[in-house]
Amino acid sequence: MSTTNLEVLRAEVRAWLAANVSKDWRTAMTGSSQESFVALQRDWFAKMVAAGYATPHWPEGWPGGGRSLAEQKIIFEEVARADAPRLILYFVALYHAACTLFECGTDAQREKYLPGLLKGEIWCQGFSEPNAGSDLASLKTRAERKGDHYVINGQKTWSTMAQYADRCLLLARTDKSGPPQAGLTYLLLDMKAEGVSVRPISQITGDDEFAEIFFDDVKVPVEDLVGEEGGGWAVAQATLASERGLTLVELTQRMRYSLPMIAQTIKDSGRSGDAALRRDLGQVVAKVDAACALADQYLEKRISGTEQVGDASIVKLYFARTLREFTSLGLRASGLQGQYHAGFMRGATQETGNWTVDFMNSYNWSIAGGSDEIQRNIISERLLGMPREPKTWKLAEDKS
Ligand SMILES: Cc1cc2nc3c(=O)[nH]c(=O)nc-3n(C[C@H](O)[C@H](O)[C@H](O)COP(=O)(O)OP(=O)(O)OC[C@H]3O[C@@H](n4cnc5c(N)ncnc54)[C@H](O)[C@@H]3O)c2cc1C
Repeated sequence: MSTTNLEVLRAEVRAWLAANVSKDWRTAMTGSSQESFVALQRDWFAKMVAAGYATPHWPEGWPGGGRSLAEQKIIFEEVARADAPRLILYFVALYHAACTLFECGTDAQREKYLPGLLKGEIWCQGFSEPNAGSDLASLKTRAERKGDHYVINGQKTWSTMAQYADRCLLLARTDKSGPPQAGLTYLLLDMKAEGVSVRPISQITGDDEFAEIFFDDVKVPVEDLVGEEGGGWAVAQATLASERGLTLVELTQRMRYSLPMIAQTIKDSGRSGDAALRRDLGQVVAKVDAACALADQYLEKRISGTEQVGDASIVKLYFARTLREFTSLGLRASGLQGQYHAGFMRGATQETGNWTVDFMNSYNWSIAGGSDEIQRNIISERLLGMPREPKTWKLAEDKS
């Protein structure tokens, strides 16, 4: 698409968002019940799908799909600029599930699952376990082949939105004998199947956006195997890679467009003349700009095919740190009063202006999708070619 057409697209998306983003979504989501949270997200998801802006990253031939990376970037930038709610309930469905099916699924699986997803089916990701997070390959949930189905037993944890989910992207072990990665198998599991139970995990913010999932002899038909049995590690890598780039552009841009909220908080507190706050605001503005530039640069590398392993880690690491400084400044500026947060916000994964919640939530990004330490390992070992440290320590005694 030519530059002029890109600008036409930008104008179209901007006008549509101006007409459709509800101005009071923060109020509606603050202290909301699970039902009203789901209803709000469903409504916004349906509007975005109908407008063709929820799936610009899908291939041609699918509703809303076939957009170039440059076009997708414009849509994400405009969504951030318009301060639209994040589609947190549909994130796994739109990215992890869909992109995995496009890359590794069969035509039959795409036909079976993607139409339902576009109509609002919710997906969750069941990878992490109590003793397998950073070291994902050590996971123990079992999948045993019995005739035309697999039988699943085990436990997952930290699964975002699992309590609302219709389906789960499950990584389970079919073989214990070889190297840990080789025995993993990737399955699509029906969360309403017999033997699945979900226990939400309460968070410090008052929300429970993720949950534990327990599997007790749950049957998964063999047709819901993605890739080969034992080939689940490669499929899981495709899932994890599916959200790179554009998500970082959106997140950094959201931070940029939320900067006036801090300035407003400082004004409201009557401390516009506070030299220390003004200096720190200046520093945060510069860092947010740098985070946006890093995310843009990364996307340019993807567009030109020059991306290297570790590039995404640099952006994520810098974004996570900047978000902590950003929200910490908001919290400081809001003073004592800001720390009495009246009511949490369900699914509050972006700047909400409720600085206590935002500050606490900012730590999510230092863990989810690979912790800061793991990002540093990737940068040092795979980008800079530094030697791998031998693992001389153990995190937790695993007695299973
Ligand atoms: C908001 C949020 C949403 C999430 N959503 C999902 C989801 O939907 N589905 C899902 O499957 N999982 C999800 N997770 C889980 C996430 O992937 C894991 O929490 C993450 O991979 C870290 O694993 P862990 O919690 O087991 O910590 P551990 O791996 O036990 O790590 C503990 C600490 O040790 C450090 N550490 C570990 N290994 C190394 C190493 N080799 N070198 C240096 N330091 C190391 C870590 O950095 C960390 O500080 C989510 C997590 C969060 C916070």
